[in-house]
Amino acid sequence: MSTNNAPTRIYLHESELPTQWYNLRADMKEQPDPMLLPDGTPAQEEHLYPVFCKKLAQQEMDGQTRFFDIPGEVLDIYKVYRPAPLCRAYDLERTLDTPAKIYYKFEGNNTSGSHKLNSAVAQAFYAKDEGLKGITTETGAGQWGTALAEAARYFGLDLIVYMVKVSYEQKPFRRAVMETFDAKVFASPSDTTNAGRAILAADPKDSGSLGCAISEAIEVAVTNEGYRYVLGSVLNQVLLHQSVIGLETELAMQKLGEYPDVVIGCAGGGSNLGGLAAPFLRDKITGKAKDIRIVAVEPASCPSFTRGKYAYDFCDTGKTTPLAKMYTLGSGFKPSANHAGGLRYHGMSPILSKLYHDGYMEAVSYEQTKVFEAAKLFAQRETILPAPESAHAIRCAIDEALKCKETGEAKTILFGLTGTGYFDLVAYDQFNNGTMTDYIPTDEDLEKSLEGLPQVG
Ligand SMILES: *Cc1c(COP(=O)(O)O)cnc(C)c1O
Repeated sequence: MSTNNAPTRIYLHESELPTQWYNLRADMKEQPDPMLLPDGTPAQEEHLYPVFCKKLAQQEMDGQTRFFDIPGEVLDIYKVYRPAPLCRAYDLERTLDTPAKIYYKFEGNNTSGSHKLNSAVAQAFYAKDEGLKGITTETGAGQWGTALAEAARYFGLDLIVYMVKVSYEQKPFRRAVMETFDAKVFASPSDTTNAGRAILAADPKDSGSLGCAISEAIEVAVTNEGYRYVLGSVLNQVLLHQSVIGLETELAMQKLGEYPDVVIGCAGGGSNLGGLAAPFLRDKITGKAKDIRIVAVEPASCPSFTRGKYAYDFCDTGKTTPLAKMYTLGSGFKPSANHAGGLRYHGMSPILSKLYHDGYMEAVSYEQTKVFEAAKLFAQRETILPAPESAHAIRCAIDEALKCKETGEAKTILFGLTGTGYFDLVAYDQFNNGTMTDYIPTDEDLEKSLEGLPQVG
């Protein structure tokens, strides 16, 4: 069956760590639609300077440069926790009795417990390099806030984090980790910003959303001298930094003489999937691997790709950002208190949105009980307790492997295991004692939220 002499864990050597990030836009047949200012004109790089550091604004707008050198200071930290292993899930394959080969790239081997550190380190470095005092951000489940706290402390920057209230309450120990790295953490919506106060005035019990926390963090950045805002997903620059995942994976698979038939990633704002899939999407776009499938997996409770609209929308609830063309549920969409906090975002990466729209990608959604079934099986077979977000990709990989069992095809399945779930034990508890529920928004809920889309073009 699937037993062979190939290794179970493939660790690249430190000297094989990529020294450049790959910008997928350079190989896209058509560029994503440009970011728009509130008056409907395309945003220029300079328009982003009040919010982002200059180097990051440049990376955000550059659709031409294929490779960007990774700064030496960033590589120094990457070397502390990278290259990340590519793993073969032999025991899961045997348990599923599938002829498929299942590989996963494990990004949970750092204190943030996720891939988020890859971009946090880059963004903190550029902020430091520009001479800034501090940075602000939002965090959902807390992985991004933790990653950025690690990176900000390393480079000696202040950090202010707005953490989505439902996560702040569900995961108090996340805050303790961030505070260990000297970050200042507020539950969002908070009474420290105009955006937060407006939301609390409308509903004092509002449990928060990423969109709302973004509004608060941006407000603090633009009203404080020497501060800029940084974002952990969605943006082009974040996908660029996360390409390190895909480049390592591509090299490790080459060494094994393997190439995936299917690449699967959970999708919140699209950064881990965009990073993992970048070289494979390039091969698909350029015709080198026409038949490879790239699959985004999202929660049924927050189905941006599968039920959203491809339209210009704000990136935050407070409607303060430029407009991005993306698959969106509407910036006012309030996802239910699903346990995959990192996937509770109304929008999606404009790069992946364009590729999905043009038929280069697929998307599926799952209810959370189905996702936790997969998480539990994976933990028992592979000995890694996955993050609920990551478990979306596991669910899909298992289903693909089960399809292979029916058809007898020995496909090579690759998925991104973005992180670990040690701060998600309330969710695991609920699943284990049978009290976990599923929530799927109605068409009416979605229509209502999509009615609020800005009118442009
Ligand atoms: C943030 C996060 C995600 C989702 O974010 P993307 O930008 O879509 O990758 C997935 N998994 C984990 C563990 C996360 O922390």
